[in-house]
Amino acid sequence: MQVAVIGSGTMGNGIAHVFAQHGFAVSLIDINQPALDRGMATITKNLDRQVAKATLSEDDKTATLGRLRTFTSIEAGVAGAELVVEAATENVDLKLQIFRDLDQYAPAGAILASNTSSISITKIAAVTKRPAQVIGMHFMNPVPVMKLVEVIRGYATSDEVTQRVMDLSRQLGKTPTEVNDYPGFVANRILMPMINEAIISLFEGVAGVEEIDTVMKLGMAHPMGPLQLADFIGLDVCLAILRVLHDGLGNPKYAPCPLLVNMVMAGRLGVKSGEGFYQYTAGSKDLVVAERFKK
Ligand code: NAD
Repeated sequence: MQVAVIGSGTMGNGIAHVFAQHGFAVSLIDINQPALDRGMATITKNLDRQVAKATLSEDDKTATLGRLRTFTSIEAGVAGAELVVEAATENVDLKLQIFRDLDQYAPAGAILASNTSSISITKIAAVTKRPAQVIGMHFMNPVPVMKLVEVIRGYATSDEVTQRVMDLSRQLGKTPTEVNDYPGFVANRILMPMINEAIISLFEGVAGVEEIDTVMKLGMAHPMGPLQLADFIGLDVCLAILRVLHDGLGNPKYAPCPLLVNMVMAGRLGVKSGEGFYQYTAGSKDLVVAERFKK
């Protein structure tokens, strides 16, 4: 079966990796060749890591890479695809345009899935002539490691398409979970208010960065504290999702903490910018609280 993946960034290369590893022929599509080259380099590095850990054989690695092809054009990349998974940048206008193009160029029977974290599947489906075949397929980061696929049914998504996507997710060794299309779906509707509350606790001086993360790690058995997790996800991404919850549900409890808003305005975005609640120095594995939050 042939699958096309749109976007070869953090999520797209992981999604292409797991489909190819599980025997699917994958077309990976991005806007230019350097982006595709970076995506393929990441896939190769992650496959090498699996070989080193003896969870994948050298032959399976070669076969996986042999199932991947790269394209810079949607029209050429989606030819023959039965499933398209869109994992391009989280921007509503960009995604609507991509889905108009997919509707035009993907085979009539193809399922069009989006990996969006927060944009309405119903809204995306409405720009196509096949809303029953549009669905959310929300993988978690890092895709080759995380078991969950949040399968999001838009207003018009058919039972048949939902079942097909649940089955395909199982074929990837994942556990699919069906949810309905409301702001934040389930994962971010629950995760983001927790992260926001952690930031509010810091903002109000209830406790420091390390104390808040320690309480949640040791007290709730979370592998990572909420402030470290926010840095990992990207504070700009957290803010954008909280705004979707706040706007979409109209409840003041989702209002983003003013400290989060300020940090994003100041360019302190977490791991990707080198500083958030912690500071990140290349090559260092130690977790160091950012200067501003040191006591
Ligand atoms: P990213 O910035 O790492 O990658 C996005 C890629 O999309 C880039 O390579 C970019 O060149 C490409 N792109 C942009 N416009 C395109 C177009 N018109 N056609 C083809 N490719 C295009 O972003 P990401 O973190 O991989 O996020 C991708 C999607 O996954 C977003 O919708 C995001 O909300 C969602 N998501 C992200 C995470 C995460 O932890 N990063 C988790 C779950 C879901």
